Amino acid sequence: MLWHNLYLSDTQNMHNKTLAEQSRALDIGDISSEELTRTYLDRICDLDSTYNSFITITDELAMNQARHADQRRADGTATPLTGIPLAQKDIFCTKGVKTSCGSKMLNNFIAPYESTVTQNFMDAGAVMLGKTNMDEFAMGSSNESSYFGVVRNPWNTEMIPGGSSGGAAACISAQLAAGATGTDTGGSIRQPASMCGITGIKPTYGRVSRWGMIAFASSLDQAGPMTRTAEDAAMMLNVMAGFDPKDSTCVNHDVPDYTANLNKPLNGLRIGLPKEYFATGLDSRVEAIIRNAIREYEKLGATISEISLPSSDLAVAAYYVIAPAEASSNLSRFDGVRFGHRCDAPQDLEDLYKRSRSEGFGEEVKRRILVGTYALSAGYYDAYYLKAQKIRRLIKNDYNRAFQEVDVIMGPTVPTPAFPIGDKIDDPVSMYLSDIYTIATNLAGLPGMTLPAGFADGLPVGLQLTGNYFEESRLLNIAHRFQMATDWHTKTPSDL
Ligand code: GLN
Repeated sequence: MLWHNLYLSDTQNMHNKTLAEQSRALDIGDISSEELTRTYLDRICDLDSTYNSFITITDELAMNQARHADQRRADGTATPLTGIPLAQKDIFCTKGVKTSCGSKMLNNFIAPYESTVTQNFMDAGAVMLGKTNMDEFAMGSSNESSYFGVVRNPWNTEMIPGGSSGGAAACISAQLAAGATGTDTGGSIRQPASMCGITGIKPTYGRVSRWGMIAFASSLDQAGPMTRTAEDAAMMLNVMAGFDPKDSTCVNHDVPDYTANLNKPLNGLRIGLPKEYFATGLDSRVEAIIRNAIREYEKLGATISEISLPSSDLAVAAYYVIAPAEASSNLSRFDGVRFGHRCDAPQDLEDLYKRSRSEGFGEEVKRRILVGTYALSAGYYDAYYLKAQKIRRLIKNDYNRAFQEVDVIMGPTVPTPAFPIGDKIDDPVSMYLSDIYTIATNLAGLPGMTLPAGFADGLPVGLQLTGNYFEESRLLNIAHRFQMATDWHTKTPSDL
């Protein structure tokens, strides 16, 4: 009886466990994937009306995948993620399942094919719980631009969760999934991870295939895992990373086992703190948390030095030319003919284009299309787009210089903790400035990571790490050692 109770309580608490712990529990038969999947689906059903972190819940598919996974565990053909329930950002095409990208434009779109990322998870035997809410076409820093409504931060439901992968971050912090995919064009994995108190890594550009991931700004977009711990992120990245001939920008580099070096000691690690990141605009509470985290790294054997990234103040301006320019081109396919929402009873072709696009796209997407089209138009191309590309090179040069002196760059992820819903929605420039610390990483194509580092008035704050190209393993190791020495990543909103 006692044993039975213990077993039961353990099963019921499975949503508190990390992916690594769940994987071990499945391995030794403490729980089945069917039980684990059912636990999460029930939690989503009971709790997600508060957070709105899912657009689609794929319960039937999930239970089928779970049964299949249990079979694989029994057959001895399981991988570490076999039977683990995950949430997929609604930017990934999932065959036979609605793929909306947070937009009315794709509200009725059932993808006819599977993205490489989600296919990789299927091949590994992972279970898909559903598709997570996101800013429309991944444009946003607060998850307020989704056609499917704002996502609420589980730490305080009056607050935004960060964007654009806000659904993914919120569902993990509310323990509706232990892992989720995100995408990061200018910070959309790291920023919501910081604001929701979870861990996320944006890999080097080209490390993860973009095939079947709906394009926002193709030279910047990159997918990555969002989890509670660095160890879990490593497990997911093992499945996500790798060459894909279907994406011409995907790099043909060997994929290391990202879990292999997690425990490497940090003695002698050289950390650089960009002086530009600790200047005006940084909330003093955030600064104190980041400086505390740095002291923790000193205790772990790292040495700290100040560095300079002199072009970093140009990053937001350059990004908000390049990203809209690429978006205006990528989004031209949604014309009501080839893809996307079609208006009723068009009078002629022009009317069809105009009304379909006016009805299908939301405010922020339209703003980006206008800015991007303007920046690319004849006469303005040199002044804006070309200039922004030159700044991009300066930013990359800054990082190249810095990585001759240090192994990793650390700083805040976002200047402030999560802000109230509605606070910046009418002020796009102030919204764009919340990306100030994340955007340069994308412009340079470098890997970046965020991990929980403390709380400011009950709201989580994340430390950001930026590494050199293809140093995901190193970043995960640096994050993991911190998580072994601290317990910020174990906190959940239910501790409040
Ligand atoms: N906040 C940035 C934007 O709105 C980045 C979004 C992203 O990374 N997808 O463009």
